[in-house]
Amino acid sequence: MSLFLQKYPRTHYCHELSTADVNKEIVLYGWVDSRRDHGGLIFVDLRDRFGITQIVFNPEVDSRVHDLGHSLRNEWCLGIKGIVTPRPEGMTNSKIKTGGIEILVNDFEVFSKSKTPPFLISDSIDVSEELRLKYRYLDLRRPSLQKKLVTRSHANHVIRNYLLSHQFLELETPILTKSTPEGARDYLVPSRVNKGTFYALPQSPQIFKQLFMVAGMDRYFQIVRCFRDEDLRADRQPEFTQVDLELSFPTQDLILNLMEGLIVDLWKQVNGIDLPRPFLRLSYNECMERFGLDAPDMRFGCELKTVTDIFKSSGFQVFAETAQKGEGYTIKALNLKGGADLSRKEIDDLTKFVAVYGAKGLGYIKVLETEWQSPIVKFLSEEEKAQLTERLSMEVGDIVFFCASKTKIVNDSLGNLREKLGALRGLIKEGDLKFVWVVDFPMFEYDEEAKRCVAVHHPFTAPKPEHIPLLDTDPTKALANAYDLVLNGHELGGGSIRIHETDIQAKVFELLGLSPSEANEKFGFLLEALQFGAPPHGGLAFGMDRLMMLLTGTESIRDVVAFPKTQKATDLMSECPSVVDDNQLKELGIQVLPVLPK
Ligand code: ASP
Repeated sequence: MSLFLQKYPRTHYCHELSTADVNKEIVLYGWVDSRRDHGGLIFVDLRDRFGITQIVFNPEVDSRVHDLGHSLRNEWCLGIKGIVTPRPEGMTNSKIKTGGIEILVNDFEVFSKSKTPPFLISDSIDVSEELRLKYRYLDLRRPSLQKKLVTRSHANHVIRNYLLSHQFLELETPILTKSTPEGARDYLVPSRVNKGTFYALPQSPQIFKQLFMVAGMDRYFQIVRCFRDEDLRADRQPEFTQVDLELSFPTQDLILNLMEGLIVDLWKQVNGIDLPRPFLRLSYNECMERFGLDAPDMRFGCELKTVTDIFKSSGFQVFAETAQKGEGYTIKALNLKGGADLSRKEIDDLTKFVAVYGAKGLGYIKVLETEWQSPIVKFLSEEEKAQLTERLSMEVGDIVFFCASKTKIVNDSLGNLREKLGALRGLIKEGDLKFVWVVDFPMFEYDEEAKRCVAVHHPFTAPKPEHIPLLDTDPTKALANAYDLVLNGHELGGGSIRIHETDIQAKVFELLGLSPSEANEKFGFLLEALQFGAPPHGGLAFGMDRLMMLLTGTESIRDVVAFPKTQKATDLMSECPSVVDDNQLKELGIQVLPVLPK
């Protein structure tokens, strides 16, 4: 135990002192952020989580202390005692709060020295992310990352306060579970006691929170880690945090209003921003029609318009054929206002971009002063041109893009093209926040390969009461009271009203291709629980990491996760996953096959 710590408890943090404290004797703890040796005087910026204070080692104040001060280096950890003094005339630093003072050190202790760090502990560094992740504890010393974690802690606090004040209970659910299908692969944990069997790490606490409702808890929430073994996209982590909640006796309106209140509170308390209420609500169908995506970025227009009818008997064969195919096929267009200056090369690049989504081509028309410039214009009749002009509000200087194909391909292609153009052409106003609830999702999508329905949300989502008969006749037409909250094109979270009747749950399992015995084996406990007076219930989960990205305005999910994994799901610092001892495997009854070189 350090003597200094015992003798001199900390009196202040490094952001606190000002000219109002002059002549006080104070004690600070922190790290050497930088050090300037001016022969006689040694200046050190001492840094802690809160800020920086300049400390001075002056031979005239204490020559022993001053001599020791010579040895200090960056990132050493120390405690200092000294007197607050005003900085000399003209030497104040208005950039920091403590810029009017400095501390004349009269005693200090080096708690621990530091090796030379592999990178400068500063926000303005340009080092590889690999190196930063390997030394994450040093990376986290950088003020910008510290600030993000501080904000995250604050956000957790606001969320807890809000939910606790609305009668939610913070309850925990198991981490070693039976797998719940949320659409991804499970992380499995072998059981030693019951060899040959496995737990799954939860993809979400979905079933447990429903069982809390059966248990009469009325309202539950948890800020909880979830695990999905997926190939990682930019804004995903294999383990991630959800703000997960569930309530009994809800209506969809009740849930959306409560959640809107939470988000408004969060933005107000964390960012000082008053969000306008109510948030916009759009049906899934309208979203797909107007934006092609179910998580639309509403910060700019450039909406998609269906033009199938215009091409029904067109001289342009490719479009005419698609238009005549009927259900499942469509032709849509979007007008990029003022986009006629796009070059041939830029249009080629956009054509390659939509090809990724399955589009075989990207038709376009440039509206020039004298003519329509387009490879397809020669096939169009005057009447078709007039209809297009009107429907797409085409004016001189615009460019219109077309896509004709299966509806899903058209929506994916033009929906993503729209977002790309929004970024490319600077259509998005900095700082704009556009929240939208997407509601009325379909229960199922038909999977052509598997030749069966798959759940759009998850298998516990209830059909709208008036659509229950459709489960027998035309299940893909059945809509659910399921909802997603979307901000600026990012899905922040989603949920639904759940099934609380055993027979409907059994029917949905059947539609999803589970035989009664499979359903029983996997979810027998849920089906049984629903038979003991299950209340109507529903809920939602927010992706906390993505929420934090948007709250802190960062582009990388790894900036808001303290110890993130790489794109390959590895931790570069502790080097996990790693090989384990043969004995550990033996105990688990597991044999590892040799890994074949790829
Ligand atoms: N469990 C769902 C999910 O993780 C959210 C919910 O329906 O509450 O997406």
